[in-house]
Amino acid sequence: MTPKTFKIKSFGCQMNVYDGERMAELLGAEGMIPAAETADADLVVLNTCHIREKAADKAYSDIGRLRREDGSKPLIALAGCVAQAEGAEAKRRSPMIDIVVGPQVYHRLPEMVAEASRGARPVDTDLPPLSKFDAFPKRRRATPSAFLTVQEGCDKFCTYCVVPYTRGAEVSRPWDDIVAEAHGLVDGGARELVLLGQNVNAWAHSGRSFAELIRGLAKIDGLERIRYTTSHPVNMTEDLIAAHGEVPKLMPYLHLPVQSGSNPILKAMNRSHTTDTYLATIEKVRAARPDIALSSDFIVGFPGESEEDFEATLRIVEEVRYASAYSFKYSARPGTPAAAMEDQIPVEIMDDRLQRLQARINAHQLAFNAKTVGIDTEVLIERKGRHDGQMIGRSPWLQSVHLETAAAPGEIVEVTLVAAGPNSMTGAVRERVAA
Ligand code: SAM
Ligand code: SF4
Repeated sequence: MTPKTFKIKSFGCQMNVYDGERMAELLGAEGMIPAAETADADLVVLNTCHIREKAADKAYSDIGRLRREDGSKPLIALAGCVAQAEGAEAKRRSPMIDIVVGPQVYHRLPEMVAEASRGARPVDTDLPPLSKFDAFPKRRRATPSAFLTVQEGCDKFCTYCVVPYTRGAEVSRPWDDIVAEAHGLVDGGARELVLLGQNVNAWAHSGRSFAELIRGLAKIDGLERIRYTTSHPVNMTEDLIAAHGEVPKLMPYLHLPVQSGSNPILKAMNRSHTTDTYLATIEKVRAARPDIALSSDFIVGFPGESEEDFEATLRIVEEVRYASAYSFKYSARPGTPAAAMEDQIPVEIMDDRLQRLQARINAHQLAFNAKTVGIDTEVLIERKGRHDGQMIGRSPWLQSVHLETAAAPGEIVEVTLVAAGPNSMTGAVRERVAA
């Protein structure tokens, strides 16, 4: 039977969220409609993440739970990076899976759904560069802050990471495609674009740089804010750093993962930056945009990480004082060089280090938020809050701001930040509301 309703569940990074939105548009173009609840859907797409082991396990346990009380089940598509990594093996691991579709070929999802409705169990995990973008329908509706994938894949081969294997080689989308999609999103209601890529600042096309792309997009009328993520320290070029000081629409926020504060560990990770080169980049970025909010990713417990190495990570955290940061326990991924390294760190040590690291990160995040109390700034309203009349938006520094206002999602309001919490701010709307 051909499915009429669908539910897409995306896990992991923002690129998966973007892919989930595009899959919904593809299925919508076939006349299918989103189901309110997973239990009501004829087709469930699990758009998975493979970066850490737990995420893959979670996807498999989610599949098990899709069996209904009467023994029936929806059509199930495994998408995303677990699908890419496991291929046909995924169908053996879970016989409930009908479709396995990798992240570079999900434009084929509608035809694979049709095949599965006829009883087949199609698998496609090819890695053709970019062809999927040509197959997408034009974007019509967008959230106030919308994701736009501009670059995919990775050639950096950090020794712990599966991305180069699951997303393939680094590829940049052409300038014109990106600009056309950006116009579509702005026409559809977006006021902010978040440019996405596994190494977004490695974007380069026909001799043009990522900084030029940002400057080009900044010319779009109606687009008020630009952000990008995730960037690699080695691709923080002088012109990109300069753009932070020169392009008012480029928001003062930079996610620049360092992973570790120890040079021997960075070398073993194949990170191609040292703590010194990283800190020099941070210094330049701060010189270009003094109020910039900095963020990072950290891995604790990489094979061979000594207490001394970990303390070096704590030191770099004290030195940079991040406005926010993500930290993870190292997770050995099959097929990556680090998984075969000696001296894997016991989980109790990783737990202890993660706790100590997060305590410092949280303290700095609160300190950053506290420092912004009293500042007059602009907030892009994104959605309703929990209470009547309460809305939630984002400050330029990506803080979540709660405020009482009649302004609708998509409006930018002038706000004074009046109170700071660890994860959000309270704002008071000033009289003037920007058009
Ligand atoms: N390209 C980005 C960069 O170079 O920083 C990161 C993209 S990766 C999808 C997101 C984050 O996941 C990484 O920054 C890293 O901290 C974390 N990560 C990747 N592989 C991991 C692993 N095997 N174990 C734990 N964390 C991992
Ligand atoms: Fe993974 Fe390293 Fe590539 Fe980032 S740069 S996606 S961490 S291999």
